[in-house]
Amino acid sequence: MDPTDHRSTSRDEALDPGAVAALRSAVGSGALITDPERSLQWRVDWSGTEAPAGAVVALPGTVREVAEVIACCAAHAVPVTVQGGNTGLVGGSIPDRPGVILSTQRLRSLFDFDRREGAITAESGVTLAELEARLGGSGWRFGVDLASRDRATVGGTIASNAGGTRVFRHGTARDQVAGAQFVDAGGRVIDRLGGLRKDNSGYDLVSLLSGSEGTLGIITAARLRLVADPVGITTALVGFDTVGAAVDGAWTLRRDVASVEVAELVSADCLQLVARESGRSVPVPGEAALLVEARRDPEPFRDVAAAIDCLPGVTGAAVASDPPTRASLWSFRDRISDAVGRLGNLCRFDVSVPGSAVMQTIAGVQALVAGHDDAARLWVFGHVCDHNLHLNATGVGRDRVADLEDEVTAFVIALGGTFSAEHGIGRTRRRHLPSYRSPADIEVMRAVKHAVDPGGLLNPGVIFPG
Ligand SMILES: Cc1cc2nc3c(=O)[nH]c(=O)nc-3n(C[C@H](O)[C@H](O)[C@H](O)COP(=O)(O)OP(=O)(O)OC[C@H]3O[C@@H](n4cnc5c(N)ncnc54)[C@H](O)[C@@H]3O)c2cc1C
Repeated sequence: MDPTDHRSTSRDEALDPGAVAALRSAVGSGALITDPERSLQWRVDWSGTEAPAGAVVALPGTVREVAEVIACCAAHAVPVTVQGGNTGLVGGSIPDRPGVILSTQRLRSLFDFDRREGAITAESGVTLAELEARLGGSGWRFGVDLASRDRATVGGTIASNAGGTRVFRHGTARDQVAGAQFVDAGGRVIDRLGGLRKDNSGYDLVSLLSGSEGTLGIITAARLRLVADPVGITTALVGFDTVGAAVDGAWTLRRDVASVEVAELVSADCLQLVARESGRSVPVPGEAALLVEARRDPEPFRDVAAAIDCLPGVTGAAVASDPPTRASLWSFRDRISDAVGRLGNLCRFDVSVPGSAVMQTIAGVQALVAGHDDAARLWVFGHVCDHNLHLNATGVGRDRVADLEDEVTAFVIALGGTFSAEHGIGRTRRRHLPSYRSPADIEVMRAVKHAVDPGGLLNPGVIFPG
Protein backbone atom coordinates (compact mmCIF):
# COMPACT_ATOMS: atom_id res chain seq x y z
CA MET A 1 0.00 0.00 0.00
CA ASP A 2 1.09 3.58 -0.59
CA PRO A 3 3.00 4.51 2.58
CA THR A 4 1.47 7.99 2.45
CA ASP A 5 -2.04 6.59 2.34
CA HIS A 6 -3.66 7.86 5.52
CA ARG A 7 -6.98 6.08 5.18
CA SER A 8 -8.00 4.99 8.63
CA THR A 9 -10.01 1.99 9.75
CA SER A 10 -12.87 4.41 10.53
CA ARG A 11 -13.45 5.08 6.82
CA ASP A 12 -17.16 4.44 7.14
CA GLU A 13 -17.73 6.39 10.33
CA ALA A 14 -20.86 8.55 10.13
CA LEU A 15 -20.64 12.34 10.28
CA ASP A 16 -21.50 14.18 13.46
CA PRO A 17 -25.36 14.59 13.54
CA GLY A 18 -24.98 18.32 14.25
CA ALA A 19 -22.97 18.75 11.03
CA VAL A 20 -25.53 16.74 9.05
CA ALA A 21 -28.38 18.88 10.38
CA ALA A 22 -26.52 22.09 9.48
CA LEU A 23 -25.76 20.79 5.98
CA ARG A 24 -29.39 19.84 5.52
CA SER A 25 -30.51 23.30 6.39
CA ALA A 26 -27.89 24.76 3.99
CA VAL A 27 -29.05 22.89 0.87
CA GLY A 28 -32.48 21.51 1.78
CA SER A 29 -33.17 17.88 2.68
CA GLY A 30 -33.65 16.78 -0.94
CA ALA A 31 -30.13 17.91 -1.82
CA LEU A 32 -28.26 16.12 0.98
CA ILE A 33 -27.77 12.40 0.43
CA THR A 34 -26.66 10.44 3.46
CA ASP A 35 -27.83 6.97 2.44
CA PRO A 36 -24.72 5.08 1.18
CA GLU A 37 -26.78 3.13 -1.39
CA ARG A 38 -28.24 6.28 -2.90
CA SER A 39 -24.93 8.13 -2.85
CA LEU A 40 -23.03 5.41 -4.71
CA GLN A 41 -23.02 7.24 -8.05
CA TRP A 42 -21.04 10.11 -6.44
CA ARG A 43 -18.89 7.84 -4.27
CA VAL A 44 -17.38 5.81 -7.14
CA ASP A 45 -15.26 7.44 -9.81
CA TRP A 46 -14.53 6.52 -13.40
CA SER A 47 -11.71 4.17 -12.38
CA GLY A 48 -13.88 2.37 -9.80
CA THR A 49 -12.29 3.96 -6.69
CA GLU A 50 -14.93 4.06 -3.95
CA ALA A 51 -15.33 6.66 -1.22
CA PRO A 52 -16.17 5.59 2.34
CA ALA A 53 -19.85 4.97 3.05
CA GLY A 54 -19.62 7.74 5.67
CA ALA A 55 -19.15 10.40 2.98
CA VAL A 56 -22.37 12.37 2.47
CA VAL A 57 -23.23 14.13 -0.77
CA ALA A 58 -24.31 17.79 -0.86
CA LEU A 59 -25.83 19.15 -4.06
CA PRO A 60 -25.98 22.94 -3.70
CA GLY A 61 -28.02 24.73 -6.36
CA THR A 62 -26.58 28.25 -5.98
CA VAL A 63 -23.28 29.89 -5.10
CA ARG A 64 -24.87 31.02 -1.85
CA GLU A 65 -25.62 27.39 -0.96
CA VAL A 66 -22.03 26.38 -1.85
CA ALA A 67 -20.79 29.08 0.53
CA GLU A 68 -23.16 27.85 3.27
CA VAL A 69 -21.99 24.24 2.85
CA ILE A 70 -18.35 25.30 3.14
CA ALA A 71 -19.03 27.58 6.13
CA CYS A 72 -20.82 24.71 7.81
CA CYS A 73 -17.94 22.30 7.08
CA ALA A 74 -15.47 24.86 8.46
CA ALA A 75 -17.54 25.28 11.62
CA HIS A 76 -17.73 21.51 12.20
CA ALA A 77 -14.19 20.70 10.90
CA VAL A 78 -15.63 18.41 8.22
CA PRO A 79 -13.42 17.74 5.15
CA VAL A 80 -14.89 18.61 1.76
CA THR A 81 -14.15 17.01 -1.59
CA VAL A 82 -15.49 18.96 -4.52
CA GLN A 83 -16.67 16.88 -7.44
CA GLY A 84 -17.64 17.80 -11.00
CA GLY A 85 -18.23 15.06 -13.54
CA ASN A 86 -16.08 12.58 -11.57
CA THR A 87 -14.03 11.71 -14.68
CA GLY A 88 -10.62 12.65 -13.25
CA LEU A 89 -8.00 9.93 -13.61
CA VAL A 90 -5.99 10.46 -10.40
CA GLY A 91 -8.59 9.88 -7.68
CA GLY A 92 -9.00 13.57 -6.76
CA SER A 93 -12.80 13.72 -6.80
CA ILE A 94 -13.32 10.84 -4.35
CA PRO A 95 -12.56 11.30 -0.63
CA ASP A 96 -10.63 8.69 1.32
CA ARG A 97 -12.33 9.55 4.62
CA PRO A 98 -15.78 10.50 5.91
CA GLY A 99 -16.79 14.04 5.04
CA VAL A 100 -18.76 15.90 2.40
CA ILE A 101 -18.67 15.32 -1.33
CA LEU A 102 -19.79 18.67 -2.73
CA SER A 103 -21.13 17.97 -6.20
CA THR A 104 -21.47 20.88 -8.62
CA GLN A 105 -24.01 18.92 -10.63
CA ARG A 106 -26.83 21.43 -10.04
CA LEU A 107 -24.76 24.49 -11.01
CA ARG A 108 -25.71 24.24 -14.65
CA SER A 109 -26.43 27.73 -16.05
CA LEU A 110 -24.78 29.48 -18.96
CA PHE A 111 -25.15 33.23 -19.32
CA ASP A 112 -23.73 36.51 -20.71
CA PHE A 113 -22.68 35.08 -24.08
CA ASP A 114 -20.72 37.80 -25.91
CA ARG A 115 -21.05 36.82 -29.57
CA ARG A 116 -18.91 39.64 -30.85
CA GLU A 117 -15.79 38.99 -28.80
CA GLY A 118 -16.29 35.32 -27.94
CA ALA A 119 -16.83 34.95 -24.21
CA ILE A 120 -19.40 33.20 -22.05
CA THR A 121 -19.97 32.65 -18.34
CA ALA A 122 -20.56 29.06 -17.28
CA GLU A 123 -21.47 27.74 -13.87
CA SER A 124 -19.01 25.09 -12.79
CA GLY A 125 -21.29 22.06 -13.25
CA VAL A 126 -21.92 22.71 -16.97
CA THR A 127 -20.45 19.81 -18.95
CA LEU A 128 -18.17 20.40 -21.92
CA ALA A 129 -20.78 18.76 -24.16
CA GLU A 130 -23.49 21.15 -22.89
CA LEU A 131 -21.16 24.09 -23.50
CA GLU A 132 -20.46 22.90 -27.05
CA ALA A 133 -24.20 22.43 -27.68
CA ARG A 134 -24.94 25.97 -26.47
CA LEU A 135 -22.18 27.46 -28.66
CA GLY A 136 -22.97 25.32 -31.71
CA GLY A 137 -23.45 27.37 -34.88
CA SER A 138 -22.32 30.63 -33.22
CA GLY A 139 -18.86 30.64 -34.79
CA TRP A 140 -17.26 30.10 -31.37
CA ARG A 141 -16.22 27.03 -29.42
CA PHE A 142 -14.46 26.16 -26.17
CA GLY A 143 -10.71 25.67 -26.69
CA VAL A 144 -10.46 22.44 -24.65
CA ASP A 145 -11.95 19.17 -25.84
CA LEU A 146 -11.72 15.81 -24.07
CA ALA A 147 -13.05 12.34 -24.76
CA SER A 148 -14.84 12.65 -21.39
CA ARG A 149 -16.77 15.70 -22.65
CA ASP A 150 -20.24 14.25 -21.90
CA ARG A 151 -19.51 14.24 -18.15
CA ALA A 152 -16.45 16.42 -17.54
CA THR A 153 -17.49 19.83 -16.20
CA VAL A 154 -16.16 23.34 -16.67
CA GLY A 155 -15.17 23.52 -12.97
CA GLY A 156 -13.41 20.15 -12.98
CA THR A 157 -11.65 20.94 -16.23
CA ILE A 158 -10.27 24.20 -14.84
CA ALA A 159 -9.45 22.68 -11.43
CA SER A 160 -7.44 19.94 -13.13
CA ASN A 161 -6.06 22.33 -15.81
CA ALA A 162 -7.07 19.71 -18.35
CA GLY A 163 -5.35 19.60 -21.71
CA GLY A 164 -6.92 17.36 -24.32
CA THR A 165 -6.65 17.32 -28.06
CA ARG A 166 -6.23 21.02 -28.99
CA VAL A 167 -3.54 22.26 -26.61
CA PHE A 168 -0.90 22.99 -29.24
CA ARG A 169 -3.20 25.57 -30.85
CA HIS A 170 -5.26 26.86 -27.92
CA GLY A 171 -3.43 25.95 -24.69
CA THR A 172 -4.72 24.14 -21.62
CA ALA A 173 -7.84 24.95 -19.60
CA ARG A 174 -5.99 27.72 -17.75
CA ASP A 175 -5.58 29.61 -21.03
CA GLN A 176 -9.34 29.66 -21.65
CA VAL A 177 -10.24 31.30 -18.34
CA ALA A 178 -10.77 35.06 -18.28
CA GLY A 179 -12.19 35.13 -14.75
CA ALA A 180 -13.83 33.01 -12.09
CA GLN A 181 -16.04 33.07 -9.07
CA PHE A 182 -15.05 30.82 -6.19
CA VAL A 183 -15.76 30.03 -2.57
CA ASP A 184 -12.78 29.95 -0.23
CA ALA A 185 -12.18 27.56 2.66
CA GLY A 186 -13.94 29.91 5.08
CA GLY A 187 -17.11 30.08 2.96
CA ARG A 188 -16.49 33.52 1.42
CA VAL A 189 -17.55 34.15 -2.17
CA ILE A 190 -14.80 35.80 -4.22
CA ASP A 191 -16.01 37.21 -7.51
CA ARG A 192 -13.41 37.68 -10.26
CA LEU A 193 -15.80 37.13 -13.17
CA GLY A 194 -15.13 40.52 -14.80
CA GLY A 195 -13.11 38.92 -17.57
CA LEU A 196 -10.89 41.89 -18.38
CA ARG A 197 -8.17 41.12 -20.89
CA LYS A 198 -5.68 43.11 -18.85
CA ASP A 199 -5.86 43.32 -15.07
CA ASN A 200 -2.62 43.35 -13.11
CA SER A 201 -4.21 44.40 -9.85
CA GLY A 202 -2.27 42.00 -7.66
CA TYR A 203 -1.95 38.22 -7.49
CA ASP A 204 -3.85 36.29 -10.14
CA LEU A 205 -5.93 34.06 -7.88
CA VAL A 206 -7.97 32.73 -10.79
CA SER A 207 -4.86 31.37 -12.47
CA LEU A 208 -3.81 29.79 -9.17
CA LEU A 209 -7.08 27.86 -9.06
CA SER A 210 -6.30 26.25 -12.44
CA GLY A 211 -4.68 22.95 -11.62
CA SER A 212 -5.34 23.28 -7.87
CA GLU A 213 -7.45 20.07 -7.92
CA GLY A 214 -10.02 21.35 -5.42
CA THR A 215 -7.42 22.05 -2.72
CA LEU A 216 -7.56 25.87 -2.72
CA GLY A 217 -11.20 26.80 -3.35
CA ILE A 218 -14.46 25.74 -4.98
CA ILE A 219 -14.92 27.21 -8.44
CA THR A 220 -18.60 28.08 -8.83
CA ALA A 221 -18.48 29.83 -12.23
CA ALA A 222 -15.98 30.88 -14.86
CA ARG A 223 -15.81 33.53 -17.57
CA LEU A 224 -14.49 31.62 -20.58
CA ARG A 225 -12.54 32.97 -23.55
CA LEU A 226 -13.74 31.19 -26.66
CA VAL A 227 -11.89 30.29 -29.85
CA ALA A 228 -13.14 30.59 -33.42
CA ASP A 229 -15.16 27.60 -34.64
CA PRO A 230 -14.61 27.22 -38.38
CA VAL A 231 -17.65 26.48 -40.51
CA GLY A 232 -16.12 23.56 -42.39
CA ILE A 233 -13.87 21.00 -40.75
CA THR A 234 -11.93 18.14 -42.28
CA THR A 235 -11.08 15.13 -40.16
CA ALA A 236 -8.56 12.56 -41.35
CA LEU A 237 -7.25 9.32 -39.96
CA VAL A 238 -3.83 8.89 -41.55
CA GLY A 239 -1.92 5.60 -41.37
CA PHE A 240 1.91 5.45 -41.15
CA ASP A 241 4.35 2.60 -41.58
CA THR A 242 6.14 3.40 -38.30
CA VAL A 243 5.33 5.23 -35.07
CA GLY A 244 8.31 7.52 -35.73
CA ALA A 245 6.90 8.52 -39.14
CA ALA A 246 3.57 9.38 -37.48
CA VAL A 247 5.32 11.54 -34.85
CA ASP A 248 7.33 13.36 -37.53
CA GLY A 249 4.20 13.73 -39.64
CA ALA A 250 2.35 15.44 -36.78
CA TRP A 251 5.09 18.06 -36.49
CA THR A 252 5.18 18.66 -40.24
CA LEU A 253 1.42 19.18 -40.35
CA ARG A 254 1.56 21.52 -37.37
CA ARG A 255 4.21 23.61 -39.12
CA ASP A 256 2.88 23.55 -42.68
CA VAL A 257 -0.89 23.73 -42.24
CA ALA A 258 -1.87 26.69 -40.08
CA SER A 259 -5.43 25.41 -39.74
CA VAL A 260 -4.48 22.06 -38.17
CA GLU A 261 -5.91 21.97 -34.63
CA VAL A 262 -5.59 18.30 -33.79
CA ALA A 263 -2.83 15.75 -34.44
CA GLU A 264 -3.35 12.78 -32.14
CA LEU A 265 -1.11 9.73 -32.18
CA VAL A 266 -2.85 6.34 -32.06
CA SER A 267 -0.88 3.10 -32.20
CA ALA A 268 -2.10 0.26 -34.45
CA ASP A 269 -2.87 -1.83 -31.34
CA CYS A 270 -5.24 0.85 -30.06
CA LEU A 271 -6.94 1.15 -33.47
CA GLN A 272 -7.42 -2.60 -33.61
CA LEU A 273 -8.78 -2.75 -30.07
CA VAL A 274 -11.41 -0.08 -30.72
CA ALA A 275 -12.25 -1.64 -34.11
CA ARG A 276 -12.72 -5.08 -32.50
CA GLU A 277 -14.91 -3.68 -29.71
CA SER A 278 -17.14 -1.80 -32.11
CA GLY A 279 -17.34 -4.50 -34.78
CA ARG A 280 -15.64 -2.43 -37.45
CA SER A 281 -12.47 -2.81 -39.45
CA VAL A 282 -9.41 -0.59 -39.03
CA PRO A 283 -9.73 2.17 -41.65
CA VAL A 284 -6.00 2.55 -42.39
CA PRO A 285 -3.07 0.10 -42.41
CA GLY A 286 0.26 0.66 -40.68
CA GLU A 287 1.97 0.66 -37.29
CA ALA A 288 0.36 3.90 -36.15
CA ALA A 289 -2.07 6.59 -37.21
CA LEU A 290 -2.66 10.27 -36.71
CA LEU A 291 -6.14 11.64 -36.12
CA VAL A 292 -5.90 15.03 -37.77
CA GLU A 293 -8.41 17.84 -37.84
CA ALA A 294 -8.17 21.09 -39.77
CA ARG A 295 -10.32 23.92 -41.01
CA ARG A 296 -11.65 23.10 -44.46
CA ASP A 297 -10.54 25.54 -47.07
CA PRO A 298 -12.87 26.63 -49.87
CA GLU A 299 -11.42 24.10 -52.25
CA PRO A 300 -12.32 20.91 -50.39
CA PHE A 301 -9.54 19.51 -48.23
CA ARG A 302 -6.84 21.25 -50.28
CA ASP A 303 -4.34 22.25 -47.64
CA VAL A 304 -4.49 19.37 -45.25
CA ALA A 305 -5.01 16.64 -47.87
CA ALA A 306 -2.15 17.97 -50.00
CA ALA A 307 0.11 18.14 -46.96
CA ILE A 308 -0.77 14.56 -45.96
CA ASP A 309 0.06 13.36 -49.48
CA CYS A 310 3.60 14.69 -49.09
CA LEU A 311 4.35 13.10 -45.71
CA PRO A 312 6.90 10.26 -45.69
CA GLY A 313 5.65 6.85 -44.52
CA VAL A 314 1.93 7.39 -45.16
CA THR A 315 0.12 4.08 -45.77
CA GLY A 316 -3.34 5.47 -46.42
CA ALA A 317 -5.85 8.03 -45.21
CA ALA A 318 -9.57 8.15 -44.47
CA VAL A 319 -10.77 11.73 -44.91
CA ALA A 320 -14.21 13.10 -44.03
CA SER A 321 -16.05 16.38 -43.76
CA ASP A 322 -19.57 15.19 -42.97
CA PRO A 323 -20.39 15.00 -39.24
CA PRO A 324 -21.31 11.27 -39.03
CA THR A 325 -18.12 10.08 -40.77
CA ARG A 326 -16.01 12.56 -38.80
CA ALA A 327 -17.55 11.23 -35.58
CA SER A 328 -16.78 7.69 -36.68
CA LEU A 329 -13.12 8.59 -37.26
CA TRP A 330 -12.96 10.43 -33.92
CA SER A 331 -14.29 7.36 -32.12
CA PHE A 332 -11.02 5.56 -32.91
CA ARG A 333 -9.33 8.10 -30.63
CA ASP A 334 -12.09 8.85 -28.12
CA ARG A 335 -12.84 5.25 -27.20
CA ILE A 336 -9.30 4.14 -26.40
CA SER A 337 -9.33 4.97 -22.66
CA ASP A 338 -12.59 3.10 -22.09
CA ALA A 339 -11.57 0.13 -24.23
CA VAL A 340 -8.17 -0.26 -22.56
CA GLY A 341 -9.80 0.19 -19.14
CA ARG A 342 -12.07 -2.77 -19.83
CA LEU A 343 -9.05 -5.05 -20.32
CA GLY A 344 -8.41 -4.85 -16.54
CA ASN A 345 -5.24 -4.56 -14.46
CA LEU A 346 -4.63 -1.14 -15.95
CA CYS A 347 -1.58 0.91 -15.10
CA ARG A 348 -1.92 4.38 -16.58
CA PHE A 349 0.95 6.77 -17.40
CA ASP A 350 0.38 10.35 -18.52
CA VAL A 351 3.88 11.56 -19.27
CA SER A 352 5.39 14.53 -21.04
CA VAL A 353 8.99 14.44 -22.26
CA PRO A 354 11.23 16.68 -24.38
CA GLY A 355 10.40 16.24 -28.08
CA SER A 356 13.70 14.56 -28.83
CA ALA A 357 12.92 11.84 -26.24
CA VAL A 358 9.46 10.78 -27.46
CA MET A 359 10.57 7.61 -29.28
CA GLN A 360 13.07 6.73 -26.54
CA THR A 361 10.28 7.04 -23.98
CA ILE A 362 7.96 4.69 -25.85
CA ALA A 363 10.71 2.08 -26.29
CA GLY A 364 11.97 2.43 -22.72
CA VAL A 365 8.55 2.14 -21.09
CA GLN A 366 7.75 -0.79 -23.39
CA ALA A 367 10.87 -2.56 -22.08
CA LEU A 368 10.04 -1.78 -18.44
CA VAL A 369 6.52 -3.16 -18.86
CA ALA A 370 7.75 -6.31 -20.62
CA GLY A 371 10.31 -6.78 -17.83
CA HIS A 372 7.48 -7.27 -15.33
CA ASP A 373 5.37 -9.76 -17.17
CA ASP A 374 5.64 -11.45 -20.58
CA ALA A 375 1.88 -11.13 -21.02
CA ALA A 376 1.83 -7.40 -20.24
CA ARG A 377 1.12 -4.97 -23.08
CA LEU A 378 1.65 -1.27 -23.63
CA TRP A 379 -1.02 0.79 -25.37
CA VAL A 380 0.34 3.99 -26.87
CA PHE A 381 -1.62 7.09 -27.80
CA GLY A 382 -1.51 10.77 -27.01
CA HIS A 383 -1.19 14.42 -27.78
CA VAL A 384 2.04 14.11 -29.68
CA CYS A 385 2.61 17.77 -30.54
CA ASP A 386 2.50 18.50 -26.79
CA HIS A 387 5.06 15.67 -26.27
CA ASN A 388 2.35 14.15 -24.06
CA LEU A 389 2.07 10.38 -24.29
CA HIS A 390 -0.62 8.26 -22.68
CA LEU A 391 1.13 4.96 -22.07
CA ASN A 392 -1.28 2.43 -20.62
CA ALA A 393 -0.01 -0.95 -19.50
CA THR A 394 -2.36 -3.91 -19.10
CA GLY A 395 -1.71 -7.37 -17.74
CA VAL A 396 0.78 -6.28 -15.09
CA GLY A 397 0.23 -8.27 -11.87
CA ARG A 398 -1.25 -6.16 -9.07
CA ASP A 399 1.79 -6.82 -6.88
CA ARG A 400 4.05 -5.31 -9.57
CA VAL A 401 2.12 -2.13 -10.30
CA ALA A 402 3.80 0.08 -7.65
CA ASP A 403 7.26 -1.02 -8.80
CA LEU A 404 6.40 -0.35 -12.43
CA GLU A 405 5.06 3.10 -11.51
CA ASP A 406 8.28 3.92 -9.68
CA GLU A 407 10.43 2.71 -12.57
CA VAL A 408 8.51 4.59 -15.26
CA THR A 409 8.44 7.75 -13.15
CA ALA A 410 12.21 7.62 -12.57
CA PHE A 411 12.87 6.83 -16.25
CA VAL A 412 10.77 9.72 -17.54
CA ILE A 413 12.22 12.22 -15.05
CA ALA A 414 15.76 11.14 -16.02
CA LEU A 415 14.88 12.04 -19.62
CA GLY A 416 13.84 15.53 -18.53
CA GLY A 417 10.12 14.79 -18.51
CA THR A 418 7.25 14.82 -16.03
CA PHE A 419 5.19 11.93 -14.65
CA SER A 420 1.99 14.01 -14.79
CA ALA A 421 1.44 15.98 -17.97
CA GLU A 422 -2.25 16.81 -17.76
CA HIS A 423 -4.09 14.53 -15.32
CA GLY A 424 -2.70 16.08 -12.12
CA ILE A 425 -1.49 14.51 -8.90
CA GLY A 426 -4.73 13.68 -7.07
CA ARG A 427 -4.24 10.87 -4.59
CA THR A 428 -2.83 8.24 -6.89
CA ARG A 429 0.34 10.08 -7.98
CA ARG A 430 1.22 12.10 -4.87
CA ARG A 431 3.94 9.73 -3.71
CA HIS A 432 5.92 10.64 -6.84
CA LEU A 433 5.78 14.39 -6.28
CA PRO A 434 9.03 14.55 -4.23
CA SER A 435 10.94 12.81 -7.00
CA TYR A 436 10.02 15.60 -9.43
CA ARG A 437 9.56 18.85 -7.46
CA SER A 438 12.33 20.01 -5.10
CA PRO A 439 11.80 20.21 -1.31
CA ALA A 440 11.74 24.03 -1.51
CA ASP A 441 9.22 23.90 -4.35
CA ILE A 442 6.92 21.61 -2.37
CA GLU A 443 7.35 23.75 0.75
CA VAL A 444 6.14 26.84 -1.12
CA MET A 445 3.15 24.93 -2.51
CA ARG A 446 2.30 23.73 0.99
CA ALA A 447 2.63 27.29 2.34
CA VAL A 448 0.12 28.50 -0.28
CA LYS A 449 -2.26 25.69 0.66
CA HIS A 450 -1.90 26.43 4.37
CA ALA A 451 -2.45 30.17 3.86
CA VAL A 452 -5.78 29.73 2.08
CA ASP A 453 -6.96 26.57 3.85
CA PRO A 454 -5.39 26.61 7.33
CA GLY A 455 -7.70 23.84 8.58
CA GLY A 456 -6.76 21.58 5.67
CA LEU A 457 -10.44 20.89 4.90
CA LEU A 458 -10.42 21.24 1.10
CA ASN A 459 -9.61 17.92 -0.57
CA PRO A 460 -7.27 16.63 2.17
CA GLY A 461 -4.92 13.99 0.82
CA VAL A 462 -4.99 15.40 -2.72
CA ILE A 463 -1.58 16.56 -4.07
CA PHE A 464 0.02 16.28 -0.58
CA PRO A 465 -0.51 13.55 2.01
CA GLY A 466 -2.90 14.92 4.62
C1 LIG B 1 -12.25 8.88 -21.31
C2 LIG B 1 -11.48 9.99 -20.65
C3 LIG B 1 -10.68 10.82 -21.41
C4 LIG B 1 -9.96 11.86 -20.79
N1 LIG B 1 -9.17 12.65 -21.57
C5 LIG B 1 -8.47 13.65 -21.00
C6 LIG B 1 -7.59 14.46 -21.79
O1 LIG B 1 -7.45 14.29 -22.99
N2 LIG B 1 -6.92 15.46 -21.15
C7 LIG B 1 -7.05 15.70 -19.80
O2 LIG B 1 -6.41 16.63 -19.29
N3 LIG B 1 -7.88 14.94 -19.04
C8 LIG B 1 -8.57 13.92 -19.59
N4 LIG B 1 -9.37 13.13 -18.82
C9 LIG B 1 -9.47 13.40 -17.38
C10 LIG B 1 -10.72 14.23 -16.97
O3 LIG B 1 -11.81 13.95 -17.79
C11 LIG B 1 -10.48 15.71 -17.01
O4 LIG B 1 -9.46 16.07 -16.11
C12 LIG B 1 -11.73 16.53 -16.68
O5 LIG B 1 -11.49 17.86 -17.01
C13 LIG B 1 -12.19 16.43 -15.24
O6 LIG B 1 -13.44 17.08 -15.13
P1 LIG B 1 -14.53 16.58 -14.08
O7 LIG B 1 -15.65 17.56 -14.07
O8 LIG B 1 -14.91 15.16 -14.34
O9 LIG B 1 -13.71 16.69 -12.72
P2 LIG B 1 -13.70 15.68 -11.49
O10 LIG B 1 -13.17 14.37 -11.90
O11 LIG B 1 -15.02 15.69 -10.81
O12 LIG B 1 -12.63 16.43 -10.56
C14 LIG B 1 -11.28 16.54 -10.96
C15 LIG B 1 -10.53 17.36 -9.89
O13 LIG B 1 -11.01 18.70 -9.88
C16 LIG B 1 -11.61 19.03 -8.62
N5 LIG B 1 -12.81 19.82 -8.93
C17 LIG B 1 -13.90 19.43 -9.65
N6 LIG B 1 -14.77 20.44 -9.76
C18 LIG B 1 -14.24 21.48 -9.08
C19 LIG B 1 -14.68 22.81 -8.82
N7 LIG B 1 -15.86 23.27 -9.27
N8 LIG B 1 -13.90 23.62 -8.07
C20 LIG B 1 -12.70 23.18 -7.58
N9 LIG B 1 -12.23 21.93 -7.80
C21 LIG B 1 -12.99 21.09 -8.55
C22 LIG B 1 -11.88 17.71 -7.96
O14 LIG B 1 -11.88 17.83 -6.54
C23 LIG B 1 -10.75 16.84 -8.47
O15 LIG B 1 -9.59 17.05 -7.72
C24 LIG B 1 -10.07 12.07 -19.41
C25 LIG B 1 -10.89 11.23 -18.64
C26 LIG B 1 -11.59 10.20 -19.25
C27 LIG B 1 -12.48 9.32 -18.39
